[in-house]
Amino acid sequence: MNKNAYSTIDLSARRNAQMGIKMNILVINCGSSSLKFQLINAADEKLIAKGLCERIGIEGSQLVYAPTGGEKITTVTPMKDHTQAIGLVLNALTDEKAGVVKSLQEISAVGHRIVHGGEKFAASTIITDEVIEAIQECNELAPLHNPANLVGIDACRELMPSTPMVAVFDTAFHQTMPEEAYMYAIPYEYYQKYKVRRYGFHGTSHSYVSHRAAKLLGKNYEDLKIIVCHLGNGASVSAVKNGKCVDTSMGLTPLEGLIMGTRSGDIDPAIIEFIAHKEGKNIDQIMDILNKESGVLGLSGGLSSDFRDLVAGYEKGDAASVRTMKAFAYRVAKYIGAYTAAMNGVDAICFTAGFGENSGFIRNLVCDYLGFLGIALDEQANKAQGEETVVSAAGSRTKVLAIPTNEELAIARETFALVK
Ligand code: AMP
Repeated sequence: MNKNAYSTIDLSARRNAQMGIKMNILVINCGSSSLKFQLINAADEKLIAKGLCERIGIEGSQLVYAPTGGEKITTVTPMKDHTQAIGLVLNALTDEKAGVVKSLQEISAVGHRIVHGGEKFAASTIITDEVIEAIQECNELAPLHNPANLVGIDACRELMPSTPMVAVFDTAFHQTMPEEAYMYAIPYEYYQKYKVRRYGFHGTSHSYVSHRAAKLLGKNYEDLKIIVCHLGNGASVSAVKNGKCVDTSMGLTPLEGLIMGTRSGDIDPAIIEFIAHKEGKNIDQIMDILNKESGVLGLSGGLSSDFRDLVAGYEKGDAASVRTMKAFAYRVAKYIGAYTAAMNGVDAICFTAGFGENSGFIRNLVCDYLGFLGIALDEQANKAQGEETVVSAAGSRTKVLAIPTNEELAIARETFALVK
């Protein structure tokens, strides 16, 4: 498959392409010291260029720029802040030699990934001063991510003042969860005062993948019960019933739920106090351990946070890798069981993100627990890597699919829908 031409062109996109409509959307995913970008023609959904700025504000910053069909160019150059980084990206995109557009006028809109929209945003929205203020109010809920996302918006507004911008939230898709799924059993006043509740993340991915599953199965999205397992360095599961998210495994923050690359996922909260006493650590240090030194990295005794290393270890019979992979798969299967109960059934289970979409091994290990759902995998189909594939056997009562996620395309689609 040509990786640059998305295999999932919508009918509307196809129509636009036939009519020669161009709508270049710049998708920006801004972190504290990095910035990823893609320029996508939303009319035909083709990737025009992509790249990233690394080490923004730190010595040794560089821009990697990859125009589709052209050579990848790496430029080591100082970037004192995000405005400078975005300036370099815009220069690269409009460069006479390696550029892909003649001028910034050919960029119709910018779509920004925003991690936390709190309870304020249940859908993507055109960015205005009021929207920026509302996003700022959510900063407390995602102190590492939201401020960085806002810096990206500011920088783009400064450099492209007349270009419409759209905010696409990681949390928005999960805002349909019912109260019983999003409330924690702690004093209610913490919800009232501070909005402490489950929000969930990876929403753009869960939405994109569940929609693709319905398309691939040739069924109405609103008629299906779908479980999406987003298994990457960050990992989460969601339950999508009749087109609406009804539960998801991440919580107030992305720390809850599955075992992840370096995040613990679910633990007994009392462990925090126990380890703090035993090791003489404060709350910040313990939170750092749960976020950065736990997950498969911690459970494997520091072997690796990269699933490929652990699969290789498992296959060689390495005890730490076997222990870790078994615990990882068991946790995923447990969530699938819970979400089957939450939806009173399940029609399709989707595997996505780096590990889920590429690894027949993990799909197998998880589905080994799911005989009660009448699941049987097709050994050949389950070898799928990075291709949309039904990996369950013809007679499988519940369908299992491997679906590559594409959050940038989903952001471009949302942006296009709001500005066209
Ligand atoms: P993501 O966060 O979605 O980029 O996923 C990153 C994770 O996917 C890393 O831990 C990789 O080891 C894992 N991954 C990527 N490709 C494969 C593969 N072919 N087999 C197993 N794991 C993979």
